[in-house]
Amino acid sequence: MINNSLWLKGIKTSALPSLKKDIETDILIIGGGITGISTAFYLKDSNLNVTLIDSDKIGFGATSKTTGKLTYLQDTLTKIKSVYGTEVTRKYIESQKYAIELIKTNVIEHNIKCNFESNNSYVFTNQNKDKKVIKDLDTILKKANTNHKKSFSLPIKYPCKLNVKVNDTAVFHPVKYVLTLKDICLKRGINIYERTKAIDIDKAEDGYIVKTVSNKIKARKVILACHYPFFIIPKLFPLKTHLEKSYVSAGVTDKNKMFNAISMKDVHSIRYYSDSKDYIIYAGLSKTLGQNMDNEKNYKDLIWHMKSNLTKDIKYYWFNYDVMTEDSLPIIGYYEKNNKNLLIGTGYNTWGMTNGTLAGKILSDLILEKENKYTKLFSPTRSLNIMKFINLTNSNIKSGFTYILSKIKTSYSFYPKNVKVEMRNGKRCGIYIDENGYEHVVSNICPHMKCRLVFNPVDKTWDCPCHGSRFNIDGKSIKGPSVFDISIKSTDN
Ligand SMILES: Cc1cc2nc3c(=O)[nH]c(=O)nc-3n(C[C@H](O)[C@H](O)[C@H](O)COP(=O)(O)OP(=O)(O)OC[C@H]3O[C@@H](n4cnc5c(N)ncnc54)[C@H](O)[C@@H]3O)c2cc1C
Repeated sequence: MINNSLWLKGIKTSALPSLKKDIETDILIIGGGITGISTAFYLKDSNLNVTLIDSDKIGFGATSKTTGKLTYLQDTLTKIKSVYGTEVTRKYIESQKYAIELIKTNVIEHNIKCNFESNNSYVFTNQNKDKKVIKDLDTILKKANTNHKKSFSLPIKYPCKLNVKVNDTAVFHPVKYVLTLKDICLKRGINIYERTKAIDIDKAEDGYIVKTVSNKIKARKVILACHYPFFIIPKLFPLKTHLEKSYVSAGVTDKNKMFNAISMKDVHSIRYYSDSKDYIIYAGLSKTLGQNMDNEKNYKDLIWHMKSNLTKDIKYYWFNYDVMTEDSLPIIGYYEKNNKNLLIGTGYNTWGMTNGTLAGKILSDLILEKENKYTKLFSPTRSLNIMKFINLTNSNIKSGFTYILSKIKTSYSFYPKNVKVEMRNGKRCGIYIDENGYEHVVSNICPHMKCRLVFNPVDKTWDCPCHGSRFNIDGKSIKGPSVFDISIKSTDN
């Protein structure tokens, strides 16, 4: 079994250059996942000078670890309805259908080979007590005039008490899609730099100065497409969102059954994918990030579930997390009122293939001063209502608990014997002892918001339970939002 995403199998890309000098640009996009690349793509025909930077490789972030479904039948619909009512939910469904059409149009017009296929989507429950949620979903879909059906089973033998199904959705290979958009952007003169990390952003008179590790970029407008903003506490972002982590696995099956499904509660997500073999992909074990740190146990449970219900021939396993908002609507648009120079696309509540594409269209339309009928729906400065406030409070209590726990807890029951956390020279250190007895000593505190890091024995990394930053055993930052390393010089310990 391979501890990596199925979508990275056989993907070979030649590295793009990293930024080596100070530059000026009209538009700077920070992050080259589906959000950043889609935004660049929709700006490619403008006369603007557009630059995109990514701290790693284009398309290798959260986008490379999804299940690659393109559907409007999402588990978030009843949550949106509870916060905003039927009309907003109807409009959200319409926006997701529009996003699927945008992707389909790109695939056809540019002949993108990304295994795009039309597919039926199901939302189901495997619990009698949750049948009401499916009935509520049925009512929402009726009001949105969708062509859907209720039934009691899925096309495969899998626990299901009730479901609704639609047949105008799709699936694709997310990485092949994003990498083709990248190639089109490059041909159309978009400047793309990889291994170029933004570490700071300062307001200037006519835009922003963004610092990378070794250079400065002066930009009229900046688009934050980096999944989670890399700079600390922008407008209380950590209080408005939380991260949810899920585990994914792919195994060989006898036949692609051409459907995808997700359960309404306790996420069970299923889809198929075919290349030289037919695969079934399953995602589950979803929880708030801080409550979901024991990778070894979770992978064991994941594999057990796959083997008991779906396939015994498992090939790939990985995890992913996404930014969740308390009203279940994404955050897309101008980040602050009265500031047209800072834009953001994030908070997709695990539906970023459609919403990241939509963000690309909305953000580019804002920049090009074109009408877009979804701008208001996703505005980052939309107002608070009572349901949103209640959800926000509940989530902050949970996140606060994770934060406090991370401050108190020094070690976890799942730590192997060769890992310890202890004070050295007045600093709290995380220590990993390798097979040669060599100690790899790092700071145990995340530079982002000072949470204590948790060791991940599967990947041999130090992971932040609060906002998802990750570091290797020598302290190098491998995933944001932290932009700093946690290395300690050998003389310091
Ligand atoms: C288990 C799971 C399954 C999912 N399945 C689906 C699905 O089937 N369908 C669906 O619609 N959605 C799905 N999602 C949601 C989807 O994965 C995300 O919403 C989406 O990939 C987010 O895209 P992005 O472009 O915002 O982020 P990313 O793809 O993470 O891109 C952000 C980029 O920014 C770069 N970056 C970060 N910090 C910096 C910095 N400081 N400087 C420069 N660059 C930086 C990163 O390297 C990265 O490449 C799933 C999520 C999970 C957790």
